Amino acid sequence: NDQITLQYHITLFGQGDRLLVARDISRLKKLEQTRQSFVSNASHELRTPLTVIRGYLETFLDQPLPSPILRGMKQMEQQTQRMEGLVRDMLMLSRLESTEHLTEDMPVDIQLMLKDIKRDALVLSGDKQHRISIEADPNYDLLGQDNELHSAFSNLVFNAIRYTPANSEIRIVWHTDAQGGYLSVYDNGPGIEAFHIPRLTERFYRVDESRASESGGTGLGLSIVKYVMVRHGGQLKIHSTLGKGSCFSCHFPADMLTTLEKLAAATDN
Ligand code: ADP
Repeated sequence: NDQITLQYHITLFGQGDRLLVARDISRLKKLEQTRQSFVSNASHELRTPLTVIRGYLETFLDQPLPSPILRGMKQMEQQTQRMEGLVRDMLMLSRLESTEHLTEDMPVDIQLMLKDIKRDALVLSGDKQHRISIEADPNYDLLGQDNELHSAFSNLVFNAIRYTPANSEIRIVWHTDAQGGYLSVYDNGPGIEAFHIPRLTERFYRVDESRASESGGTGLGLSIVKYVMVRHGGQLKIHSTLGKGSCFSCHFPADMLTTLEKLAAATDN
C-alpha cells in the first residue's frame, strides 16, 4: 500500500525548453479517502439514534399535551426530520464520491420517472399551488442508474418549488438531438445573480443563508446533482436571469440515450 501517486506539470519555455515537475500526492489522496470514510461512517452511525428520537417524539405527540410543550415537541420533530434529510444526503454524496457504479447502467423510463417526481413536487408545493408541466421526447430514454437520476432530477424540481413564490410555473423538459439528451427544469421565480452561479454546486453553498433553514433543503442538493452527472458522463448547466427565472439543465452524451424498444426488452427480462 506504499504506492506513490505522481502528478506531473510540464511547463513549456520558448523554443523547445521544458520543465518537468513531479509531485507525490499519495498523502493527499490518503487524507481525502480518510475524510470520505469518516463522513460516510459518521452519517451511518447517526441514522439509528435519529430514528429512535423520532419514534419517541411521534409517540409523545399522539398524547394530549399542554400547548407550550406541544410547540416544543413539534419543533423537535421538525429539526429531527431536517437532520435525517442531512444524514441521508451526506451518505448519498459520500457514496457518489467514493464508489464506482455497482450495477450495470440500465434503461430508465424518463416519462414515468418525471410523472413520479411531479406527484411528489405537488405535495411539497401544497397550498402554494405551483403549476408544473412535463414535455418529454417520447422516442428516447436514458441509460443509467435509476436511483441516482431520480435523486438528481427531483432535487432540481424540488428546488424550483422551494425557491419560487406561490403559483409559479415550472416546466420540466426532456429533449434529445444528435448530440445527446437534455433534462431541463425551468422556473419563473426570482432568479439568481450571476456571481453565485459557479459556486452553487459547492457543498452547503446558499444564495440566501438567512433562508437556509426555512427552505427545508440540506444545502447538498446541487452537489449531488453535479456528482450524478459526472458519473453519467454528463454535465449540469445553470442559466438564470434575476427577476425572470432559472433553468437547471442536465446534459447527457448521445451514447447514454436508448430507445423505448430496448427499455421494453429490459423490463421483460
Ligand atoms: P439547498 O438545500 O439550500 O436548496 P442546493 O444545493 O439544492 O441546496 O441549492 C443551493 C442554493 O441554490 C439554494 O440554497 C438556493 O439559494 C439556490 N437555488 C437552487 N435552485 C434555485 C432556483 N430554482 N431558484 C433560485 N435559487 C435556487
